[in-house]
Amino acid sequence: MIIVPEREISGLVSATDCFTAVEQVFAAMARKSAYNFPVIREAIGHADALYGFKSGFDRESLALGLKSGGFWPRNFEKALPNHQSTVFLFDADTGRCRAMVGGNLLTALRTAAASAVSIKYLARQDAKVLGIIGAGHQSVFQLRAALEQRPFEKIVGWNRHPQALSRLEAVAAERNIPFEAVNLDRLGAEADVIITIASSFAPILMANQVRPGTHLACMGTDTRGKQEVETDLVAAATVFTDETKQSVTIGEAQHAVGKGLLAAAEIVEIGAVINGDHPGRISATEITLFDGTGVGLQDLAVASAVVDLALAKGVAIKVDF
Ligand code: NAD
Repeated sequence: MIIVPEREISGLVSATDCFTAVEQVFAAMARKSAYNFPVIREAIGHADALYGFKSGFDRESLALGLKSGGFWPRNFEKALPNHQSTVFLFDADTGRCRAMVGGNLLTALRTAAASAVSIKYLARQDAKVLGIIGAGHQSVFQLRAALEQRPFEKIVGWNRHPQALSRLEAVAAERNIPFEAVNLDRLGAEADVIITIASSFAPILMANQVRPGTHLACMGTDTRGKQEVETDLVAAATVFTDETKQSVTIGEAQHAVGKGLLAAAEIVEIGAVINGDHPGRISATEITLFDGTGVGLQDLAVASAVVDLALAKGVAIKVDF
């Protein structure tokens, strides 16, 4: 069995590696050769923690396994990240445990890769201004990955506590792109692409704040009850997702579907666009919305890439098991 500890991940895998892995697995999902198993997520009644599993199997790459982990809100008292995860990969031919891979950085990279894939396939080619709502841990990864997809000339950001936007401003400065903290009206009026990556249980961005032709990557809603954009905005958009089953239950679309404003059958899995089976954006005035809920197969795809890289670079720890 191979172990790739968390400390090795940043030196092994790039955002580009993760983009490729996620793009491929979304395509395999749409071909129905990769599928996610039902998600388990439980409040365990200890340390206020939420704990669970995301798992699946890709018959094309033979990635089989699970990501185990969750949210420990009091970890900051111990100087540890609140989100903790580990990926376990199994040999699809024998069922033996193949690898254990640190999953914290990989979770951020695979989530950023998903919204970047949506920008590649759904944003207008002439998109110039990137808007970002949310300035927490994930936001920096989201921004870096998005900047690879279009030659953005300006970034506008909004966060509930504006002082946290400095971390996004620092990324913009690295790339010599102007950054401006704005209110939501200006963000919607200026941005061609908007990433939402907040942790909210009420809509932040309203339908009347968004221009025709905008692409939205809604990435923060990954739990029942969470919401980042008004349901009228979801209803007005062409909605794409990683997996429809999750989109209608734990994703941004859950509220519009619940109100009868959107039918599950209208939601397009982004893999269909990647495979050329759906045209994606069909007009310059259409609003496209990617509901990125986060699936286990993304975790398996990026962890498999890490294992291959760790073996190639000789940093995989091998143990008898
Ligand atoms: P974080 O705790 O580091 O940051 C949370 C952000 O949300 C901050 O910018 C905070 O100001 C903002 N926020 C909190 N409450 C808010 C409210 N009521 N209204 C508006 N903004 C509010 O979290 P993070 O690790 O950056 O994750 C952000 C979100 O992304 C979380 O909801 C997380 O569950 C989700 N997430 C999704 C995926 C996926 O695959 N889709 C993966 C990882 C995380």
